Amino acid sequence: MEGTERRARIVVVGGGVAGSVLAKAVQQFADVVLIDPKEYFEVPWADLRSTVELSFAERSTINHSEYLKNGKIITSAAVNLTDKEVVTEDGCLVPYDYVVIATGHTYSSLRTRRERLQKFQEDNLKIRFADSIMIVGGGPTGVELAAEVAMDYPDKKITLVHSGPRLLQFIGPKAGAKALEWLKSKNVEVLLEQSIDVDSISVADREVRTSAGGLVLADHHFLCVGKPVGSTWLRDSIVKEYVDRKGRLMVDENLRVGGLPNIFAIGDITDIPEMKQGVLAQRHATLVAKNLKLLIKGGKDCKLAKYRPSRPSAKVSLGRKDAVVQFSMITVSGFVPGMGFFWPRDLFMVKTRKLLGVD
Ligand SMILES: Cc1cc2nc3c(=O)[nH]c(=O)nc-3n(C[C@H](O)[C@H](O)[C@H](O)COP(=O)(O)OP(=O)(O)OC[C@H]3O[C@@H](n4cnc5c(N)ncnc54)[C@H](O)[C@@H]3O)c2cc1C
Repeated sequence: MEGTERRARIVVVGGGVAGSVLAKAVQQFADVVLIDPKEYFEVPWADLRSTVELSFAERSTINHSEYLKNGKIITSAAVNLTDKEVVTEDGCLVPYDYVVIATGHTYSSLRTRRERLQKFQEDNLKIRFADSIMIVGGGPTGVELAAEVAMDYPDKKITLVHSGPRLLQFIGPKAGAKALEWLKSKNVEVLLEQSIDVDSISVADREVRTSAGGLVLADHHFLCVGKPVGSTWLRDSIVKEYVDRKGRLMVDENLRVGGLPNIFAIGDITDIPEMKQGVLAQRHATLVAKNLKLLIKGGKDCKLAKYRPSRPSAKVSLGRKDAVVQFSMITVSGFVPGMGFFWPRDLFMVKTRKLLGVD
């Protein structure tokens, strides 16, 4: 009957950087359900600034309901995917015509935005009242946190412990060396090729022993070690054969999983050969939204947009003014890359909020 035609059902699993942009875009032309264990979206690269600057946390966490006005939100983790439905932890069977998998990582397990803001506040107080802070992990998270704390609290004793031979191993050695030099200039002690048995740390101890036998002063410590990719829930699913050894989903050039006609994946969970970055995850989301619109309108497969992997480039902030930036051939560090040409000082907060249509 005219006027009662059913709209296509799109289920988006994961409301992170990629899933939020996609859900926002497709709500205009489809019935959308967003499944996420958290009621809110958070900008992962703003977490460290949010810990030292609480007003920033207010802007870097956004309830899904703020940008998804015409969609349904299910606050639960997905636990399986069949050819017709997504199954959630709390027992919902969510039917779909198209599904988009965007379960990159789980950074926070706190369900509500209020709980998340409270956690930022607790961590902020721990930093403020500690004389000594130990950060475990010399990847981008550990380096950025050490830099943020060193800038805001220059009198604290900060130690960064990293098990690898150099910092920032995900990019070239020059970037790691420049970050090391910067941290040392801010009196951060960096211990390389040493590890910490985290389970052995007790709240009462002010000193922690490293694998090399040395003692590190630590009134408080932060664990900044890599988070696993969020694909374990697909272990028994219809796409299990397309999960690679690293837990990433194999996608084709249209970002469809294993070439299946109605299952897409975007963001960090994909096996696209490029760096795993938020800006690229947002690009995947925009492309898949376009492809879904075309398919729903009855467009042909040959008209689908194709994704081209991006060239490697990365940036690690060193406080509010400095940064290490690596493009495919060159590495730059210091004040200039920290300026807005490369990466705005607000960490793309205005841009990200604008993408989601929230002010
Ligand atoms: C400290 C840090 C600094 C970074 N710096 C930068 C940077 O400078 N520039 C940049 O571009 N990128 C940066 N990144 C990387 C960027 O944050 C990621 O590339 C981006 O978050 C990937 O987006 P995503 O949507 O794929 O995954 P995520 O943003 O990780 O979102 C995944 C979502 O899926 C949900 N989820 C997980 N499992 C399930 C499940 N079973 N069911 C339902 N939902 C689930 C999670 O709750 C989450 O909401 C940084 C990351 C970190 C941690």
